[in-house]
Amino acid sequence: MALDKNIAVLIGGVGGAKLASGLVEAVPPERLTFIVNTGDDFWHLGLKICPDLDTLMYTLAGLVNREWGWGVADDSTVTLDSLARHYQVEPWFRLGDKDLATHLLRTHWLRLGHSLTEATACLGERLGLRATVLPMCDEEVPTMVNTVERGELGFQEYFVKHAWKPAIRAIRHHGCEKAGLSPGVRQALSDADIVLIAPSNPWLSLAPILAVPGFRDLLPGLAAPLVAVTPIIAGDAVKGPTAKIMRELGLEVSAREVARFYSGLIDGFVDDRRNQPFAMNGLRTVQLNTLMNDQADKVALARALLGWIGGWAV
Ligand code: GDP
Repeated sequence: MALDKNIAVLIGGVGGAKLASGLVEAVPPERLTFIVNTGDDFWHLGLKICPDLDTLMYTLAGLVNREWGWGVADDSTVTLDSLARHYQVEPWFRLGDKDLATHLLRTHWLRLGHSLTEATACLGERLGLRATVLPMCDEEVPTMVNTVERGELGFQEYFVKHAWKPAIRAIRHHGCEKAGLSPGVRQALSDADIVLIAPSNPWLSLAPILAVPGFRDLLPGLAAPLVAVTPIIAGDAVKGPTAKIMRELGLEVSAREVARFYSGLIDGFVDDRRNQPFAMNGLRTVQLNTLMNDQADKVALARALLGWIGGWAV
């Protein structure tokens, strides 16, 4: 068990947050740093919305709507309903009243000149988080989705407004050439004894992180082993568009294809025991139960994968 190890986790939203809530029970949370995708972020009604950061923070703070895996539990939509009723603002992006508090405060701090890293740290501190939560970078690098039916869409237009129905042709990380590794991200990676890639969507949640200039180049030089967890179980995604995107990009929907996506970066791959076993040159693999239906599954997976890594790497 990696109780005295520093663990950095590259992570997206709902799928990743499931593993995160297991990890914070399996190791001291102070040892955990989450490096979160911000490619999904956008400005909406004058507010800066960071869906993956919020999903993770609400999860770790015990505030999350458990049924959805995102948003705040027992939230209302009085503001959104008023915007629709009185001002004909189409409520396509769901923002609960309690959730709005986070967006208001974050936007306030950003407008005062604080970085997203600083604003996130302040939100996390006030929510009582013991783990560190970092955005992948401070610059805005919105994910743009080029679709067959509707041309290029902003990520939330694709994901929420059009319910990920349009077929993806290509994905672009707008402005990523102007982004860079923040001091916090650089430090977290160099201090890490283990780097995990959560079972998040490789194309929509992990690719934006890896597209931050300097990120991909830094990883092979780290002393820490890098281990990814499959988001594909039994030939399908557990939730969301991962499998659909793989088909649209002409890829086989399998854990092997996910491992191939990370090839050259990862030392180990946590596959699911329901998947067809595969071997890849130089890659250590293990098959575990990665389906996290409840908190016990999440903690069991966190313990099992850290135990496995401890057996060969740290
Ligand atoms: P999003 O940004 O909210 O879409 O969330 P992520 O990118 O973090 O996660 C989406 C991925 O999580 C999907 O590919 C799912 O297959 C995967 N996922 C969701 N739940 C589970 C689970 O219980 N086990 C595993 N292995 N993957 C999961």
